[in-house]
Formats: sequence, structure tokens, C-alpha cells
Amino acid sequence: MKFINLKEESERCLLCKAPRCQPACPVNTEIPRIIKLYMDGRYLEAGEILFENNPMSAVCSLICPFEDQCMGSCIRGIKGEPIDFPKIENYISTKYLEKVEFLKGKNKNKKVAIVGSGPAGLTLAFILAKKGYGITIFEGHEKIGGVLRYGVPNFRLSNDILGLMEKKLIKLGVKFRFNEIIGNTTTVDDLLKDSYDAVFIGSGVWNARKLNIKGETLGHVSYAINYLKSPDS
Ligand code: SF4
Repeated sequence: MKFINLKEESERCLLCKAPRCQPACPVNTEIPRIIKLYMDGRYLEAGEILFENNPMSAVCSLICPFEDQCMGSCIRGIKGEPIDFPKIENYISTKYLEKVEFLKGKNKNKKVAIVGSGPAGLTLAFILAKKGYGITIFEGHEKIGGVLRYGVPNFRLSNDILGLMEKKLIKLGVKFRFNEIIGNTTTVDDLLKDSYDAVFIGSGVWNARKLNIKGETLGHVSYAINYLKSPDS
């Protein structure tokens, strides 16, 4: 891993008026604005902007394909090293999540069931819980995160950040039901019968894609998604 001095890195940014990095980000992160706030010591303000734009900012800053997005488009990269914005973003977003006390919006008296606690489910849970909806997340595994936990190795994405998100969601009143696969014992109809006003299904894609070549069933072969679920086994 390459260590960088975040302050020096942010000072290298040209704070472009028409930044090439920003439109290259799938969620249009306001990169020069965030860097400027960070340089001014206003990192919590920067963290709030990042979170409100993308509640998964602390995660995306670790696992996005930066080379093809912000860093790959940075003007500094034409003749030298691009600005390592993901490292700056990760610092800001993680600090923000550690410090923030989210306020729950006025109770809407509406219940929403979220099936799956992967990135989509977690994002929606934050957005709706902050607006005052009653959220229950049904997760098929024993812990939150979905593909973030069971499909991305821990050295790339530490589970600590998922634990931090879980704590914040619990504080917002979100309830979790683990080891509960909707469609087996409990169905979507059961959820609607129990007066959930809406059901969001973000169950992910857990099935491996067959290559349809000879040898796929042999003992020493493993599909990538299955391997990533338990790389130590
Ligand atoms: S990160 Fe690069 S492209 Fe974006 S504002 Fe800074 S110097 Fe400009």
C-alpha cells in the first residue's frame, strides 16, 4: 500500500473550475469543492456533502475503479501523478461516519422492508430512516454488507466500516433480521400482510456464471464468487 500525506496531496489539486475528475465519477462527487473544504479544515462539512450525495462514500472510496474514473481523468495525471482523491475521500468519509449523530426525521408512520443489506439496501436504509420511515432489513447472512462483506476481501474493504454503518443504522431505529432469506419461510406476501407499506428487494447476484467449458465441476475448480465468500476455506 502506498502511504501519502493527505494535506500535501490536497495542496497539489488545482481546484479546477471545470474539473475533469467530477463528471468521471458515477455519482458526480464535487471533488474540488470537497478538497477545498478539507484544506480549510472543514472536513465534517465535506463529509456531510459526501454522505448526502452517496451514503456509501466511505466504501466507494476504497473499492471504486478509480483508475478509470476520478484519478484516470485528473488533469494532473497527464504529465505526472493524478490527485489521489479516493484516499482524501476515505479519510473524510470515515471520520464523518465516526463523529456524526444522525437525526431521525419526523415519524412518517410508514414501514419499509428492505431485503438484502448490500450497498443498495444500506443506502436506502440510511436515506429512508433519516426521513422518518420505519425500516426493517432482512439479511440472508449472519452479518450486514452482502457482497461488500462476502464478495470483497477484508484487506480491500475492512469490515470495520460495515460495523460502523450498522451502529449508525441501529441508532436511527433500523431493525435487522439476520439469516432470513425472503422467499423461503417468509415471502413478500407475508411482508405485505404484516403491513409493510413498501418492500425493496436488493438481494444481489450470488449465482456464479457458468463458462460452459469442460472441467467446471472438478474438485480443484471454484467459481470466483464462491471463492470470495470463503477464501480461507
Ligand atoms: S482532482 Fe485533478 S481534475 Fe480534479 S480538480 Fe483536482 S487537479 Fe483538477
